[in-house]
Amino acid sequence: MSKDWNVLIVGGGPAGLAAGEAAAKQGVRTLILERQHEIGYPIHTSGGSWTRDMQALNIPEQLYHPINKVFFVSPHREVPLHYNPAVACVIDVRGLYQHLAARAIAAGAILHVNHSVEQTLLENGRVCGVTVKNHLSERITARAEVTIDASGFSRHVGVRSEMGKAFHRYGYGAEYDLYAPNYPQDELYLIVGDHFAPRGYAWAFPRGNGRVRLGVGVLHPDCDEDARVYLDRIMRDLPQLSAKFRDASPIEYHTGLFPSEGALERFSRDGLLLAGDAGGHGSTLVGEGIRFAIYSGQMAGSVAAEAVKAGDTSAAFLERFDKKWRARFGRDMEISYMINKRIASYSDEQWDSTLDLMKRLTPAQMAQALRGDFSAGLVMGILARNPGLIASGGKKFLDLILERISEAPARN
Ligand SMILES: Cc1cc2nc3c(=O)[nH]c(=O)nc-3n(C[C@H](O)[C@H](O)[C@H](O)COP(=O)(O)OP(=O)(O)OC[C@H]3O[C@@H](n4cnc5c(N)ncnc54)[C@H](O)[C@@H]3O)c2cc1C
Repeated sequence: MSKDWNVLIVGGGPAGLAAGEAAAKQGVRTLILERQHEIGYPIHTSGGSWTRDMQALNIPEQLYHPINKVFFVSPHREVPLHYNPAVACVIDVRGLYQHLAARAIAAGAILHVNHSVEQTLLENGRVCGVTVKNHLSERITARAEVTIDASGFSRHVGVRSEMGKAFHRYGYGAEYDLYAPNYPQDELYLIVGDHFAPRGYAWAFPRGNGRVRLGVGVLHPDCDEDARVYLDRIMRDLPQLSAKFRDASPIEYHTGLFPSEGALERFSRDGLLLAGDAGGHGSTLVGEGIRFAIYSGQMAGSVAAEAVKAGDTSAAFLERFDKKWRARFGRDMEISYMINKRIASYSDEQWDSTLDLMKRLTPAQMAQALRGDFSAGLVMGILARNPGLIASGGKKFLDLILERISEAPARN
């Protein structure tokens, strides 16, 4: 720890671990610091994701559980969607994060758990490392040419170096991880409406071996509801789920916070990059951030290593990361946030009408929309299947989305 590092990463979540692998692969000296005692513990997430991305990211099949049936439930409607082969999946979160840790170490990164980053070292306006409390409670200094803040919701280095304030709008989630012997392991539920998930949604995510994650997320400060109180109500009172949760009991209890403000304006400054949730890089559409954190971490780690090798770790060089991220994800994330702000205040009646609309879409269109892969083809397809939208306010909103797509048509 006493020596200087080329790249120092704060946080051993999916963004930090992916950044560590990408940087170390380029042969630069890379250190990852994680404050918890273990990678992937405690769990603050549910693990819903997509098989296509798991394959693209070379994640071993045993670390994600495929889902064939997805059900949307609103107060008076239900939309069943069947997929064969499966497109959605539920990740073994601890298994995946430890796999990413092993990949970073195999690439040459050094990982320290039980190391809590405290202060940010700033010299002449550039970030040049951090101070750390280590596993022996000693306070040490770690200097680096590039620091990557991958500390998630706390954005620990970013908020201490003028890279935006602490997140103000966020999803607050509470979740049981249950052993549920009667729950069908290929059925995923997404539930909306005031009685079970005001200003947010609830979910049931099976993850294999009789285990199911049942959670509720609500948006603050849009409302001040406590997500925790809804969990037992869903298991007991939701007609679609009560029999499926017969004889079930929680084995784990999780809570977590997800930034819901869209991406930051900038993710780079002299000597610093922000990746994953720290940069607001997840999709606010459904509060999905794991695959996005991995992609963002990979990009940040590569740009950091390139900067070190070029001998230029200025904001001007590191801005390449902002450009790469925006080219690949910027447009879809902006549209996701536009939709999030619109649906966050939906009444039960509005949700019922939205499910009426969803019923007319194909399972493939629904998956594409949920993934946040927005294209003109998708929007036109939605309009074609819902001619009624043309006369309603919904058409105006779709036009705004089309406008955004035409401004930035290419995704690379
Ligand atoms: C309730 C809930 C449910 C969710 N469900 C899903 C889902 O189903 N699918 C999905 O894709 N996404 C989901 N998300 C979002 C997803 O969890 C995040 O987008 C993702 O974890 C972001 O990864 P990250 O690496 O950026 O941050 P994190 O996963 O938060 O990792 C940050 C790491 O940094 C460490 N750290 C923080 N501060 C310090 C410090 N000072 N020193 C050292 N280490 C530090 C933390 O301990 C942590 O390990 C959910 C989020 C919540 C809250």
